Order: sequence, then C-alpha cells, then structure tokens
Amino acid sequence: MTKIGLEIHCQLTKLESKLFCSCKADYREYEPNTNVCPICMGLPGTLPRLNQKAIEKATLIAMALNCSTPEKIAFFRKNYFYPDLPKNFQITQLNIYGDTSIGGTGTIMVGDKKIHITRIQLEEDPGRLIYEGSSSKNQITLVDYNRAGTPLVEIVTEPDFENPKQVREFLNILSDLLENLDVSDPSLEGAMRADANVSIEGGNKVEIKNINSFHDLEKAVHFEITRQESLRDREITIAQETRHWDDKRKITISSRSKEEELDYRYFLEGDIPWIIIGKDIQEKLKLEMPESISSKKERYVTKYDIPNQVAVVLSSDKFYSNLFDKSHTEKNAKEIANIITTDLMGLVDTREKRENSKLQSSHLRDLADNIQSGKLTRTSAKNALYEIVKSGKELSQVISEFDLGNVSDEDELLKIINQIISEEPQAVEQAKSNPQTINFLVGKVMQKTKGKADPRLTLELLQKKIG
Ligand SMILES: [Zn+2]
Repeated sequence: MTKIGLEIHCQLTKLESKLFCSCKADYREYEPNTNVCPICMGLPGTLPRLNQKAIEKATLIAMALNCSTPEKIAFFRKNYFYPDLPKNFQITQLNIYGDTSIGGTGTIMVGDKKIHITRIQLEEDPGRLIYEGSSSKNQITLVDYNRAGTPLVEIVTEPDFENPKQVREFLNILSDLLENLDVSDPSLEGAMRADANVSIEGGNKVEIKNINSFHDLEKAVHFEITRQESLRDREITIAQETRHWDDKRKITISSRSKEEELDYRYFLEGDIPWIIIGKDIQEKLKLEMPESISSKKERYVTKYDIPNQVAVVLSSDKFYSNLFDKSHTEKNAKEIANIITTDLMGLVDTREKRENSKLQSSHLRDLADNIQSGKLTRTSAKNALYEIVKSGKELSQVISEFDLGNVSDEDELLKIINQIISEEPQAVEQAKSNPQTINFLVGKVMQKTKGKADPRLTLELLQKKIG
C-alpha cells in the first residue's frame, strides 16, 4: 500500500510582528534586508521576545484540528549552518520531554478517511535565498533576511494518505480552515510550503523537500509515486533518500547531502522560559474561535433549507459566508445563497477581483427582494450584479440606468406574446397537444424582452392564450 505523510509549513500571515521581535510579519512589500533588527539578525547580546499573539493563533489551529493542547510548552534550538539562518540555529519545537509542542496528536476527516496529526509546532521562518545568473558557472546567490524570524506553524501528519487525491482534498480542507480561523492567507506566495514522505508497497521511504506551494505538493507526490513504481517494475531498489522538488521541471531530484534529525543537535532554548498556557487561556481561545466550516454548513442546511452542495460551497469560503451571514434574513436566505453561488462566484474568483469588488451586503439583500417580489428576473439580477460589483451603485439606480426592470405590464406583455404566437405557429400547435413544450414559447418571449419579462406572468398569459 502507498503511504504518504506530510509536513505542512504555514505562515501566520495575519500577525503584526515576527515571532521574537517587533519587525513586521508581512515582509513581502519591503526592499531586501530592510525588515530586520538585531534580534532577528541574531546579533550578540540580543534576546528573543516571544509574540503572544503567535501562541494564540497557533493554539487555535491546534484546536481546530482536534489536537491536544499541552498546558506547558517549550522551545528548542535546531542547530545548522546555512546562509538563510543568521543565528546558525532555528528556534522551533520538539517533543523530547513529553508533549511540549503547541499541539499534540489529533485527527481530521478527509472524506471517509481519518488522517492523524502527529503534532503541531511553532517556529521561526528562515530568510530567503534568491538564485540569479544565467548559467551554473556564474550563478550568484543573494540572501534576503526580511522573512527571517516570521512565525511559521508546522503541521505534521502520520503517513495516512494513500493517494495524491486524498492529499489534495486535505489541502483544500486545511486552506479553508486556516482562512476561516483568520490566521493565514493561503493565497499569498510562499505562505504554504510542504515536505512529504512517500513510500510504495515494499519500498523504502523517500522524503521530498522544498515544495513551495500546495498546488505543487499534489504534483510532487504523484511524480514520486510514478517514479518509485517504475523502479519497482524494473526490479531496482528504491533508495531511502531525501529528494528536492524542482518546481521548474516538475520533477524530484536526489539531494547530495543527507540530513538526519540527530545532526541538528537539538537542545532547549535557554533564552525562552517554558510557557504556561493555562486552562483559562485555552477556554478563552475556544470562546473566541470563529464558527467552524462544518457548523456553518449545518446551520445553512437545517435553518434555511439550503441544498447541501450549495451550503458546502457557501460555508467553505470565508468571503462568501461572510457576505451571506451579513445580508440574509429568514425570508431571503435561499435566494441570496443562490445569487452568491451561481452569479457572484464567476465575478470575484480571484484575490484581485475580490479586493476591487464594490459589492455590499445591502446590495445582495436588495437583489433578493427584487427577485422575490417579481420586479427583477434572475437574468436581469445577474446583469445588475455585474454592474454593482464594478461600480458599487445602488440597485435602483442600476435598474433605471440599464433599463433592467421587469416587463410586468400585461398589455405590453400581451403585445409581445401575440407577436410570438404569430411567428411560431408550429410551436403553438405543439404546446396545445403537449403542455410541457410551452416553455419554448416562454423562452422566445424572454429572448424578445432581453430576459426582462416576468416569467410567471408570461406563462400565465401564454396558457390563457393557447389553452
Ligand atoms: Zn527583527
């Protein structure tokens, strides 16, 4: 059986400052090496000051993944020399004196499959190495320490995944969960990175390092399974090794250096005392925790009778569920859910479009009211929504400006219906013998009115005329 385990590194992008100093956690906007200070540069005589908010956010993640949360946590030094690490050690966590990481064991369901979480740890991110130069001979490596010391949460799973599809489903659930907790923005470049270990039946375990996006993780796992299977088919032993993901060529490559856990010479970080996260703090965090995605989904289905599939889409995306929760009432909930999941999704499917969108919750309420009272057809509502997202104008203004109001005047509609009846004698005959086919004529009226005819009234009038 194929076994896949993951180590997910997720940046706490919603924090103000780094893990042990007051430099900004959001390093992306800065010129290289300007978001640094003596603490994150590891200069002699400096001491780390732990960011309390980082402890809280990481605890929230542990709780949301149903992990145990120890009352006493400790930090360790992981010693290694690498240019991206100014102190020559990384402050991280390790469970050698019992469970002292921010999160202990836990589980999460991925479809019908239970995935076990081994632990969750809080640590600092190293700096960034940037490779430049055109050939391997004159390559230059630049180092930018703006990222050094930013808060990172590592989520380690047991090798419970059996195929890349389960990995992808888990990543989708995890990104939604992190976004819902308001701890991280998974869409930011480099915010989600991962290592994976993969072994197929009868083969050795292979570690894949350096996977810089969730998107590539599934690809890397897939590539590695195929590579190992092809070795097995040719009766070549699969070496136990560490491989790197080459994101340009989309393949894994054997790494020359072999790093073992023992080489890091972990020891307790003496500059940070053991931290007590008492039951009272844990209780407070539990109370502050945003409503979970599954509980939102449940609420939408049971309280408003929204179809399951629509509720899944609505609840798993914070942007949509926030809009829904702000705008709906008991009466219009279904209609608003429908507008969001059928018409709005295509208009705000990227981060940029969401940031530029001028839509307010009040617009959605107005749209639903107008559809429900028959003043606006769904087609016209869709057109109006497009305009609102772009301009932020009031619905009433958009309706008059673009002449979107329903044709619900009987005389006016009858004129159009008479015209259609004379144009479509065959369809009329057919509708007389088979009432179902009358919808074709309704469609013709809609076409003629550019989707503005009141559909209920149109059907009623047509039935009267033909029947
Ligand atoms: Zn700093």
